[in-house]
Amino acid sequence: MPCKVFDFHVHCYPEKVAEKAIQAVGPLGLHTYFNGTVAGLLQSMREAGIIGSLNLPLANTPENTRGVNAWAAANNTGPVYSLGSIHPDDPHPAQTLGWIRSLGLKGVKMHPEYQRFKIGKLQYDPIWKGCVEHGLFVLTHAGRDIAFPPPPNSDPASIAALHRRHPNLKLVVAHMGSWGMWQEVEEHLIGLPLYLDLAFTLGLMDRDQLLRIIRKHGAERVLFGTDAPWQSQKEALDYFLQLPLNDREKELILYRNAAGLLGLEF
Ligand SMILES: [Zn+2]
Repeated sequence: MPCKVFDFHVHCYPEKVAEKAIQAVGPLGLHTYFNGTVAGLLQSMREAGIIGSLNLPLANTPENTRGVNAWAAANNTGPVYSLGSIHPDDPHPAQTLGWIRSLGLKGVKMHPEYQRFKIGKLQYDPIWKGCVEHGLFVLTHAGRDIAFPPPPNSDPASIAALHRRHPNLKLVVAHMGSWGMWQEVEEHLIGLPLYLDLAFTLGLMDRDQLLRIIRKHGAERVLFGTDAPWQSQKEALDYFLQLPLNDREKELILYRNAAGLLGLEF
């Protein structure tokens, strides 16, 4: 291993709901590489040689925001860390985001498909402003999600427009800028000062295109992530390590950028 490895995009759930959460994606034909619990994730990390992971819980409704963030805060101890989450229809976004920050969480996860909102709509500006105000970054799902019919509620052009309207908003765009829409990523997102994560792309998207995007965008703004349990942490890491990137680029992507965003030193 050229350096320490941090997985910036994983999913685990409270013990009571993990089994249900995993079963819910069964019909989509996705393989599951651990059982969805924190204990299962820790085992997967040990097998892969990963020292830290960032869990991305989601507030599916405004009502479950409290419970989701309370659980996130209680499970943000390392080596598994957690983001918080806000629902786009939250009635008091500024207050909610202030509370999330006070819990010690560094950012919020958003998912335009599961939360059913179009990321480009102006009505969500209070969310983005609140994140800037409270120093929270946003990690958003982007592009297609196999659980939802196209067209997706987020795409490279609307994310670029969001960035132009809120240049101080720290954005991490999952799945290398938009799952399944990498041509548009190359047209609209490459080179902008926002982060792209590798979740569910390693071994699943065209290798030449992946390398081109990493090189043009810059390793300083790419994060290693797997989307485990939906991808094997070990297999994704093995694939990444074989890419013809230099040691400096690998260290940035596998560890440095994550440590910087989370303000952690491992
Ligand atoms: Zn994910």
